[in-house]
Amino acid sequence: MAVRFLIIGGGPAGNTAATFAARLGAEVTMVERDVVGGAAHLLDCIPSKTMIATGGAMSFSRRLHGMGLEDVEPEIDVDALTERIEGIKTHLGNNTTQLLQSQGVTIIRGSARFKTPHSVVVDQVENGKTTTRTIEFDACLVATGSRPRIPDWVQPDGERILTTRECYPPRVFPKSVCVIGSGVTGVEFVHMFSSFGAKVTLVVSRQQVLPGKDPEVAAVLEDDFLRRGVSLLKGARAKSITREGDEVVVRCDDGREVRASHAVLAIGSVPNSDGLDLEAAGVVPDKNGFISINHHCITNVEHIYAAGDVSGKLPLSSVASMQGRKVAEHVMGLHTREHRHLDYDKAASAIFTEPEIADVGLAEAEAFASGRKIRVTKVPFSATPKALINNDSRGFVKIISDPATGVVLGGSIVGRHAAELISVIALAVTANLKVTDIVESLLVHPALSEALAEAAE
Ligand SMILES: Cc1cc2nc3c(=O)[nH]c(=O)nc-3n(C[C@H](O)[C@H](O)[C@H](O)COP(=O)(O)OP(=O)(O)OC[C@H]3O[C@@H](n4cnc5c(N)ncnc54)[C@H](O)[C@@H]3O)c2cc1C
Repeated sequence: MAVRFLIIGGGPAGNTAATFAARLGAEVTMVERDVVGGAAHLLDCIPSKTMIATGGAMSFSRRLHGMGLEDVEPEIDVDALTERIEGIKTHLGNNTTQLLQSQGVTIIRGSARFKTPHSVVVDQVENGKTTTRTIEFDACLVATGSRPRIPDWVQPDGERILTTRECYPPRVFPKSVCVIGSGVTGVEFVHMFSSFGAKVTLVVSRQQVLPGKDPEVAAVLEDDFLRRGVSLLKGARAKSITREGDEVVVRCDDGREVRASHAVLAIGSVPNSDGLDLEAAGVVPDKNGFISINHHCITNVEHIYAAGDVSGKLPLSSVASMQGRKVAEHVMGLHTREHRHLDYDKAASAIFTEPEIADVGLAEAEAFASGRKIRVTKVPFSATPKALINNDSRGFVKIISDPATGVVLGGSIVGRHAAELISVIALAVTANLKVTDIVESLLVHPALSEALAEAAE
């Protein structure tokens, strides 16, 4: 009899697990309370990146003089932008649903909670009537994602005090915004709003934006923010946000305050593990609600897996998908064959600011802290003809390798198309390639990738 595999949540973790497990012969049922595609498509990655792409086009049109054209100041068409975001979301959601259905996955619209270690109850609301049904399973994947963290000192109102999920569709474009939180999401929102012409203030709790990132990388972004007129309030922690007429007032613990038309909270996320009745299945979350997993994504209960944001590993869509794939392989017994475990240290990630920032593998500061000997080579994009042609020579490529063997251990890229270019270093890190492998690749000319080859020299 086929393995009955139940998946709770249809985001990247859930739908990748469903597709692979179905292909491998499992009888797959997916329960999704909202829309297949998950927060990644509906609320986070896709809408934010769509807005950033439009904002990028706006800032590019203000720099056309460098391309031998006259600058233009484009007008935002809020309806057209909203339609564009909705269109992309619908397209991707439909594609995912069709793919799952074509693989024979049963999709149930409803909210699931555990009844026993081998069954869930699904609450379904149709035409205002709630019905419940029980589904039994042999293996289950919890892939319920996360939601923005709201601290107890603020109450978002969905109008002027917003979480990141309330910024689109963009009903009104803020004239001025105070963004609280200078991690990846915070800086992307700063970039997005300032591209659209808003006056932006960023509350940075430490002395550097992107705490934990390479200081050289963070410095390039800070310079860009300052050049665009973004105010950086460093070493400040917001302690209250209130509305005063058409303004919001953000007060910080050191007495400084910011007045703006809107405030956006970008201070992390919390797992969607409450409401799942985990105790009925015997699954024990950690003190923050994340569901701990081992290297096969198995929870403390042998046949129950967790993947994606709810597992508390790297909160990235790409990581969630790969975890989903590994779960499907494990459920179907493929882990006993040649099987590479997921190595979270080798995950590439990108920040969609301008310039873009991307990195993978070992960071210089990390190697320095652990006393590990490394070779660091850095080449600015200004050294490549393509950067001059693009009229954008900001940024650099940095490659970190083992001085004894030449094996590529990591790297970072700041600049145009960094999110695409990092794939070369990511592949090298995953496949244990050497710097000479990059140097001896016959790359395209003129292309930004020439900086990669030079950095590998
Ligand atoms: C603003 C922002 C931008 C981001 N941009 C990027 C990016 O550019 N690149 C990137 O890699 N990552 C990005 N991320 C992170 C990415 O969105 C998440 O890592 C990813 O969505 C996690 O996928 P998931 O499958 O764990 O969960 P989700 O995508 O959150 O999906 C979980 C699904 O579970 C459903 N669900 C929850 N509880 C239940 C229940 N009880 N019953 C049934 N269904 C349930 C939800 O409705 C949801 O559809 C971004 C995050 C944010 C906040």
